[in-house]
Amino acid sequence: METLETKTSAADSLKSALVEVIHFLHGKGWAPATSSNYSVREVEDTDFWISASGIDKGEFAAHDFIHVDAVGAPLDDARKTSAETQLHVLLYECFPDAHCVLHSHSVYNTVLSMARKKKKSYVDLQGFEVLKGLRGIKTHDVRVRIPIFENSQDIDGLAEEIGAWFEQHGEPQGFLLKGHGLYVWGDDIASTKRQMEVLEFLFEVVYKLKTL
Ligand SMILES: [Zn+2]
Repeated sequence: METLETKTSAADSLKSALVEVIHFLHGKGWAPATSSNYSVREVEDTDFWISASGIDKGEFAAHDFIHVDAVGAPLDDARKTSAETQLHVLLYECFPDAHCVLHSHSVYNTVLSMARKKKKSYVDLQGFEVLKGLRGIKTHDVRVRIPIFENSQDIDGLAEEIGAWFEQHGEPQGFLLKGHGLYVWGDDIASTKRQMEVLEFLFEVVYKLKTL
């Protein structure tokens, strides 16, 4: 049987693994200043740990995570979570295998997200070897479509819109918010980091190809 002690240390090791990833993402320039948010949850759990807002991601430490329940309400914690916690809630709800959510604000994802127009609300990634780093993809000969949603400060409304899109189109490899950033998720921290690195790499490639 799982004791309270083993449970705590499992959470601690997940938090310290995620801190390392946050520092890596910040070092890449994908989390400027205090922007971006990240979360992780244990296998079989519905509650999760999410980064507190307002902390410089280069300085982020394990005690800067807030433990929240399945609907994003803090458990025994007076600190405020980011409004975007509701997007993490949505992802964990829609994709039960997801155990980590990463959000980045890179220059390339922000620039490409501006491609959203009335009739075009996606970025297509096609023909690149690196696509094989994304979950479930075994060949470069594939088209990966990353949807772009209009940005909004009404996060509940946004979560509803994105959830409806998932229902209609299935699970994407990630999504962009216009002028804002990228969200990815995965079954553990390492695979979610890989997901983000592949997409950020390809966004830069696509951008540079367009400007040749
Ligand atoms: Zn954001």
